[in-house]
Amino acid sequence: MKNFNYTRATTIEDAVDRSSQAILIAGGTNLVDRMKVFLDQPTQVVDISRLDLKKIENTENGLRLGALVTNTQVADFPLVRQNYPILSRAILAGASQQIRNVATVGGNLMQRTRCPYYYDTAFGCNKREPESGCPAATGINRMHAIFGASDKCVAVNPSDMCVALAALDAVVEVEGIEGRRQIPFSEFHRLPGNQPERDTVLEDGEIITAVILPANINAKSGVYLKLRDRASYSFALISVAAILDIDDNKIRDARITLGGVAHKPWRTQEAEQFLVGKAVDETLFQQAADLALRNAQPLQHNKFKVEMSKRAIRRALMVSANGGGIA
Ligand code: SF4
Repeated sequence: MKNFNYTRATTIEDAVDRSSQAILIAGGTNLVDRMKVFLDQPTQVVDISRLDLKKIENTENGLRLGALVTNTQVADFPLVRQNYPILSRAILAGASQQIRNVATVGGNLMQRTRCPYYYDTAFGCNKREPESGCPAATGINRMHAIFGASDKCVAVNPSDMCVALAALDAVVEVEGIEGRRQIPFSEFHRLPGNQPERDTVLEDGEIITAVILPANINAKSGVYLKLRDRASYSFALISVAAILDIDDNKIRDARITLGGVAHKPWRTQEAEQFLVGKAVDETLFQQAADLALRNAQPLQHNKFKVEMSKRAIRRALMVSANGGGIA
């Protein structure tokens, strides 16, 4: 790790003012790892962990999670467990208890890919250094994208929490020099395109202040199913966040989001719309899964993700149709 100058932001405005010349640190669970292996070499680190962004507030627009609330606090919060259980389950499927105790809401959204080539500075990597190549595209790409990749980058977003937030249609609140704005969760992370170095649509000088879970959603039957190489402390090969709202055996609303398959949480709108208005049925869920994966473009080593995703979607939908819980 290179030496850096460490200071604390005193207010949100102070953090905004300094954010374009410094790296902001909150829990630091991904950032410090990156600094240790010289991926990030900031000269200025501004600690925002003492700002007044640590509350969970029940508002008329929904549940507002301050950006500095820890992952553990969100997962354990009674109203989250009651109304958005998929979020608790997704968070608890990620990392370790120690990491969740310090990792923050905002930090979870800002964590970077775990592509092994990105972390190995012996290789070029367009995300780390633009125009230096993408060795994963032709190398070992078992963990990489099957949707939305570009010839510049085939990495996936590593977050579990973000997959659930995308399914819930959460909103990201950010504050910048121009003031405050809200970004629909599905638009917050970007596909790599020609700029894989940019993970999100945050502008220079903008910081996340909160994530809002919508009030007008019936998500009690939400299911988060994560498939990985080992049972704990491992990133997803693929994951599914599925929420069905069923009335009298008819599907009123369906949400299916995949994790571990793209540079952002991957909503499957076509499959969701296909389900709406139809009666609950396992064959229907299989058809929805086939639709969701219809345009997948696997790489040399991750073709297995296509069938694995289909089976996971079918299973998650079955469990959600039965009221939710652990898939
Ligand atoms: Fe870098 Fe993206 Fe290629 Fe991985 S997939 S080596 S992060 S450019």
